[in-house]
Amino acid sequence: PRSVAVVGASHAAVHLADRLRAIRYPGEITLISHEDHLPYQRPPLSKAMLKGEANADSVLLRDPGYYPDHRIGLRTGVRVTGVTHVDGRYILEMVRDDVTESLEVDRLVLATGARARVLDLPGADHPDVLVLREIHDAHRLLSRIAAGPVAVIGGGFIGLEVAATARALGAPVTVIEAGDRLLARAVGPSTAETLLTAHRAMGTVVELGATPVEIVTDDDRLLGVRLADGRMIPAATVLVGVGASPRTELAEQLGLDVDGGIVVDGNCLASDGHTIAIGDCTVHVSETGRRFRLESVDNATEQAVVAASVIAGLEVPSRGTPWFWSDQGDQKLQIVGLIGGHTSALLRVDPDRPRRRVALYFADEELVAAECLNSPADFVALRSALGRGSCPSPDVLADLSVPLKKLLA
Ligand code: FAD
Repeated sequence: PRSVAVVGASHAAVHLADRLRAIRYPGEITLISHEDHLPYQRPPLSKAMLKGEANADSVLLRDPGYYPDHRIGLRTGVRVTGVTHVDGRYILEMVRDDVTESLEVDRLVLATGARARVLDLPGADHPDVLVLREIHDAHRLLSRIAAGPVAVIGGGFIGLEVAATARALGAPVTVIEAGDRLLARAVGPSTAETLLTAHRAMGTVVELGATPVEIVTDDDRLLGVRLADGRMIPAATVLVGVGASPRTELAEQLGLDVDGGIVVDGNCLASDGHTIAIGDCTVHVSETGRRFRLESVDNATEQAVVAASVIAGLEVPSRGTPWFWSDQGDQKLQIVGLIGGHTSALLRVDPDRPRRRVALYFADEELVAAECLNSPADFVALRSALGRGSCPSPDVLADLSVPLKKLLA
């Protein structure tokens, strides 16, 4: 194809454009983003940027000159509002500052990501009830940390990262989680328990099994969060971290299969077999019919590599084992593989350095995933062993007298 338009200009889109140029794709590439900002990394928004250790320039995905140097058209502040696919051509309708224009291309990539979920509670439209997805959200949250207690609704990755950062900045913090443990969808019980202990040690109050029913305000001032049991958690700022919903509107306009995300196959092709979708907006259906919606930088970049090969008509490289990281105060969590579907688990704790913990997950005898807390070297060894597909049996890996790295070598 002679021209590609990518809706979105974040981790997935920028990596795709980069790969296309790296494999000498000669056509036009246009990235379109409704954010009025050069493409930036999202992970620091809840970590370094919130601490003031990173700023709008240092989080950029690429220097400003990168795009013209690589003949990548970058349209920021532009929303794609409509798309049609006729006679093999896509026609995009775009709006910037109320001015409408259109763009016609041969190939369309949807890298539309996800939007932060909001709460449907009385008072939840108060301006100090915040989410964290875009750079302006991070600026706003940072400006509120000194204003008083922070209530975080949701004990997932973003909520816990913000809680740890806000504590490090001295704010009183309460995490309100409806489930009976933290990170229930993402990590196993032992890792969740260790992180719960760590957050409490940081001084965060963690309320498990707590359902918020109202954001309490007095005139215009936010006072706190009312729980179902009647208690009120005082707060000057509420951060809602209850997940993100994939942006699928354009896929729906094209009549593509959407089921909790844009459904794609291993080549990132949507149900029409031609439109490509990558990153947080997608649901990947494996050959065995298992559905994955991965929200990670790793997934965005891996799918971008696949999509670039498909667009250029090259052989599609095989994907690495999925991985993810989360920094919560002094706790560094790294996950490789997918938990869920495992049949047994094994916990390895370094007796000399108990902060280092590795939870291993097996499907029958086969290692399928691992969670490493404060053990970056073990994570690297596990990622490479899982990638090679050669891991020792659970019996061998249970031997705590031998370092994991050695067992996996
Ligand atoms: P997004 O980053 O969501 O980008 C999609 C872009 O498309 C957005 O800019 C959106 O505005 C634009 N767009 C959508 N529709 C339109 C339209 N119609 N017209 C124009 N533009 C449009 N991942 C990790 O692996 N590790 C971490 O530690 C980690 N920390 C995170 C911390 C925070 C605070 C957040 C928010 C995310 C974090 N993530 C982390 C997740 C990671 O950032 C996402 O997986 C990644 O950003 C997905 O990239 P994407 O390109 O698919 O989508």
